[in-house]
Amino acid sequence: MPNSTTRAGRHFLQIPGPTPVPDRIMNAMSEQILDHRGPAFQKLAKRVLANVKTIFKTENPVLLFPSSGTGAWESALTNTLSPGDQVLMVETGQFGLLWKQMADRLGLKTEFLATDWRVGAEANVIEARLRQDTAHAIKAVCVVQNETSTGCRSWIDEIRQAMDAVKHPALLMVDTISSLGVMDLRHDEWRIDCTIAGSQKGLMLPPGLSLLAISPKAIEASKTAKLARSYFAWDDMLANNANGFFPYTPATGLLYGLDEAIDMLNEEGLENVFARHERLAETTRRAVQAWGLEIWCRDPKYYSPAVTTIAVPEGHNSDALRTLVLERFNMALGSGLNKLAGKAFRIGHLGYTNELTLLGALTGVEMGLELAGIPHRKGGVAAAMEYVASIGRPEAAKAA
Ligand SMILES: *Cc1c(COP(=O)(O)O)cnc(C)c1O
Repeated sequence: MPNSTTRAGRHFLQIPGPTPVPDRIMNAMSEQILDHRGPAFQKLAKRVLANVKTIFKTENPVLLFPSSGTGAWESALTNTLSPGDQVLMVETGQFGLLWKQMADRLGLKTEFLATDWRVGAEANVIEARLRQDTAHAIKAVCVVQNETSTGCRSWIDEIRQAMDAVKHPALLMVDTISSLGVMDLRHDEWRIDCTIAGSQKGLMLPPGLSLLAISPKAIEASKTAKLARSYFAWDDMLANNANGFFPYTPATGLLYGLDEAIDMLNEEGLENVFARHERLAETTRRAVQAWGLEIWCRDPKYYSPAVTTIAVPEGHNSDALRTLVLERFNMALGSGLNKLAGKAFRIGHLGYTNELTLLGALTGVEMGLELAGIPHRKGGVAAAMEYVASIGRPEAAKAA
């Protein structure tokens, strides 16, 4: 039996995705399944395919695949590139690394710009590399907008400017799996060629749907690209979508949910959604700073609005803390990934969440730190509360 039914009260799912699903979306998904070749489905699909564009800030097609976000990574690469093509990727953290490993397996020639996993992708570093590539051998630049493992964001507008500054024609591909519906994303204005997303993070849906916004330039590239593709191919999908259908059975239930999620985001207003995430991230950081623990992201410019990664002091194990917090308080925290395993934990503050839920989560962390014997100062929750209470009183927020 899942936690939610064996233990009283809400399970606190504070990992950076999957995130809690709002009741409105759960209810929308409880609709009976439709004939996916029938007129009612066609109406739903046409509406969803049109409205989802508002979330990407695009007028161009958004493709929906029944897969996790990883499927849209593959779709972006295989539809636009050919074997041996050179791609420039950035090692922002574990997800940057996994995407790069996929590109290697697909037969692309990857070049990996290293970071210390404590900042986002830096536009000046990308610009310097592209400037050397006078022959335009690099066919795509791939960046993760929010590196979920490290809690560092990248600034896609700056990366677009960097590419423009050296007039480099490479495709720009952006992983927004944990940032769509969390922070600003302008597919058209920033001239992104492939924007990759997944259902289970900022979009507040269960896992199982990937989303991919594409540009006219990407579609043009797909006509000559030679990498093998089938399930994730764009041509059949685009042709079917034009009539509100899919080349194979779509994830009908998730489409009901997506329809509702789009409405929820637009009712709150995307700018308000982004501001809420910024507030919750700042609330979390106030607590971490008061505890005297280390925010893993080392430069405030790159602080993530979606997730905060927190290092535990040397000689202490972040997984012991996570296990204790789960058993004792029914709260799931994110683990440290790859080289951060055991050394850091993550608090997700994205999706369907608010101040009091987050304060509850921070309370569980503060008690967990105490019980796990991890050295810290008390008063993290108090500092977070003070910040939350000060919102709406800008003078007080500044003084804090
Ligand atoms: C979660 C995540 C992925 C992987 O997505 P799946 O849906 O698990 O395939 C990739 N990139 C980022 C930034 C993520 O947060």
